[in-house]
Amino acid sequence: MSHSLPVVAIASLGGTISMTSSDAAAGVVPTLDAAQLARSVPGLSDVATITTSSLRQLPSASLRYDDLMEALVWAEQQVAAGARGVVLTQGTDTLEETAFLLDLFWTLPAPLILTGAMRAPQAAGADGPANLLAAVRVALHSESVGRGVLVVMNDVAHYARWVSKGDSLAVQAFVSRDGGVAARLVEGAPAFFHARQARPGPLTRPVRAWPKVALVTAVLGDDGELAEMAVKGGYEAVVIAGQGAGHVSFAFAQRIGVLAEQVPVVIASRAAGGSTAFQTYGYVGAEIDLAQRGARMTGWLSALKARLLVAALLASGVAPGAVGDAVANWSRLTRQ
Ligand code: ASP
Repeated sequence: MSHSLPVVAIASLGGTISMTSSDAAAGVVPTLDAAQLARSVPGLSDVATITTSSLRQLPSASLRYDDLMEALVWAEQQVAAGARGVVLTQGTDTLEETAFLLDLFWTLPAPLILTGAMRAPQAAGADGPANLLAAVRVALHSESVGRGVLVVMNDVAHYARWVSKGDSLAVQAFVSRDGGVAARLVEGAPAFFHARQARPGPLTRPVRAWPKVALVTAVLGDDGELAEMAVKGGYEAVVIAGQGAGHVSFAFAQRIGVLAEQVPVVIASRAAGGSTAFQTYGYVGAEIDLAQRGARMTGWLSALKARLLVAALLASGVAPGAVGDAVANWSRLTRQ
C-alpha cells in the first residue's frame, strides 16, 4: 500500500539524532544512518514512501560549506526524481546556520526541511523519532510549499531566516524571536500563522572558493584589535556583533574605518534578538558614525546569519565593494 503514498526523501548528516554509545562513559557519537533513523519512527511508512541516503556522519560543528552544497544538490535531485519534499537530519548546534545557508540557494517550491534531536536515540524520551515524523509531515504538506527551508523541532516549524538555538540542552531549544515561528503542528499537520512572503531571489551558486569571513563580538574594553588581526590574517570580510543596537568603542570605531577601506565590514547586534539601529545614536562607535566610516548595519539579521550571507555573496562572485549594501538590502527585504 505504501507505494501509492507520496515520496519524501530523507538524508542524514549526523548529529545527536544519529548518536549512540556502546560505553556510557565514552559519550555518544554519530553511528546511525538515514535508513536506521527512518526505521526507528513508528508509523512513518503510513504517511509517506520514504527513500533514504546517508551523506555524512558528523557532529554538526564539523559540517563544512562543501558538505552543505552537496546536500543541496542531493535535495534538488530528489525533487527532480519525484519527491514531494526533502528532509535533512543533522546536529542541532549549527542548525540555525545550515538552514540559513541552504535557504540562500534553495530555488525550488518543494519543502526542504531540516531536523535533529536534543536527546540521543538511547536516552529516555528521545525526541529524534518524533522530530523526524513531524519533519516528514511538514515536508508533505501543501501549505509548506514555497516557504523555503524550514527547521522542524519539537512540533514547531521555523523559517531559516529567523530560527536560532535559544537553549543549549533543552528539548525546546529553538526559537524564532523576532519574525515568529512559521507553524506549529497540531495533530500531525502544520498550522501556518502567516501567508507566504516573497523571498529574495536565490544567490547564484558559488563561482569561487568560499572566503574566510571573521565574526568578532565587540566586548567591554574592546579596541577592535582582533578584527584588525583577522584582516591581516587573510579574512576577506568582517562581521562585528556589536554591543546593543550595533555599537563599538571609540577605538574600535577608528579601526573599523581603516578596515572598511580594505574589506566589507558589517555590523550586527550581539543581543539575542532585535534589530540594529540606523539613525538613532550620534556618538563615535554608534551606527551613524560606523556607516560614515564605510560599515553597514545588518538590521534584523543576526551576526551568525550575516556572516554566512557575506560569505555566500562573496562566493557567488559579488564584488567586495557591493557586499555591505547587498547585506543591508537583503535584511530589509526579508524583514516581514
Ligand atoms: N552536538 C550535537 C551536534 O550538533 C548536538 C545535536 O545534534 O543536537 O552535532
